[in-house]
Amino acid sequence: MTTALEQEINPWEAQAARFDLAAQKLKLDEGLWKVLRYPNREIIVHIPVAMDNGHLEVFTGFRVQHSIARGPAKGGVRYSPDVTLDEVRALASWMTWKCAVVNIPFGGAKGGIICDPHKMSMGELERMTRRYTAELFEFIGPEKDVPAPDINTNEQIMAWMMDTYSMHMRQTVTAVVTGKPLNMGGSRGRREATGRGLMIICEEALKKLNMNRDQTRVVIQGFGNVGSNAARLMHERGYKIIGIVEVGGGLYNRDGIDIEALWEYRQHNGTVHGFPGAEKYDPAELLVADCDVLIPAATENQISSRNADRIKARVLVEGANGPTTAAADDILSDKKVFIVPDILANAGGVTASYFEWVQDRQGYFWKESVVNEQLEHIMRESFQAVVEYAENHNVNNRIAAYMLAIDRVAYTIRQRGIYA
Ligand code: GLU
Repeated sequence: MTTALEQEINPWEAQAARFDLAAQKLKLDEGLWKVLRYPNREIIVHIPVAMDNGHLEVFTGFRVQHSIARGPAKGGVRYSPDVTLDEVRALASWMTWKCAVVNIPFGGAKGGIICDPHKMSMGELERMTRRYTAELFEFIGPEKDVPAPDINTNEQIMAWMMDTYSMHMRQTVTAVVTGKPLNMGGSRGRREATGRGLMIICEEALKKLNMNRDQTRVVIQGFGNVGSNAARLMHERGYKIIGIVEVGGGLYNRDGIDIEALWEYRQHNGTVHGFPGAEKYDPAELLVADCDVLIPAATENQISSRNADRIKARVLVEGANGPTTAAADDILSDKKVFIVPDILANAGGVTASYFEWVQDRQGYFWKESVVNEQLEHIMRESFQAVVEYAENHNVNNRIAAYMLAIDRVAYTIRQRGIYA
């Protein structure tokens, strides 16, 4: 028996609840509803890896392709001990909606391996990554499904994936993954892109709410690739980052944390803990601390029925995928929190991935200013489209983003027709 809380924090249920509501409001026909509610293809692989201690370990990995209606499937791969098929399913659907919200020509996919990468050596990680890629060989490719980094995966992992695929193809195929190192077909600006996208979205939200950047106090949960780059870019622009929430202890400084100093501290010490420019703070309390903008940029289910009523932020910009449960949405909506949903707010990453894929296929690489300019254009335009849609249809931003996305994907499927 699943408890109410278990159901609330199951990402698949979270996705499905929003999908059903948006589809109902769109009056989506029953057949398409069924097509879009479930993934197109789910692959489970068992990956044997020779461990450094001489033993053989078998890891379970997934790749879920939710939709290829608008283009190749697209989405990251995460390494974590608590990856589940339901989670990867939800994340794959979110990728479809995300790519449709920002109107880039991709479908949605996600992958994951159940493992604890922090307890593995580089050699073990490399062997696991290569075997996972080899197992998925016939399902991925520049025109089929293009993986990218996600939680606990990075440029090095993408380099191994690209190399493994290329070895099987007997030619270098850079466009098979995005988020690669610069020297092997990566794009300038990709690493910072999700954080930059969040910063651009914040600017738009502030404009919309007539708020002033210099007086805006921000709390960011997570100091990984997304959170740290958002913090850095926002700090540079004059936002006051008063809190950084990290596992094992938050950091708080009511006058604003010097993010550059924190960045350097982390470079040297490998952790943000012990940073002298802020006081140590209970992470759970920091999430509900007094601030103007809250950016959850870590994992799912951080804002749920357990803490949503205590959230004080006026604006919630979702850097992570699925940080807010459906039950929390209702509470936050009663509190009139302005939410920029994940499928819009964190779409900067996949948008820059799209640019990387385009550059790889062109064999022509853009200046960083061009990447950033194009990214800014897409993020601003998408924000406007979602907010306008919400106003015109009298729904919140999240449901508006889903409706816009579902409508775009459904339109394409209708036009393409169902192959029998
Ligand atoms: N993992 C990122 C996301 O959830 C990026 C995906 C991509 O670039 O394909 O959006």
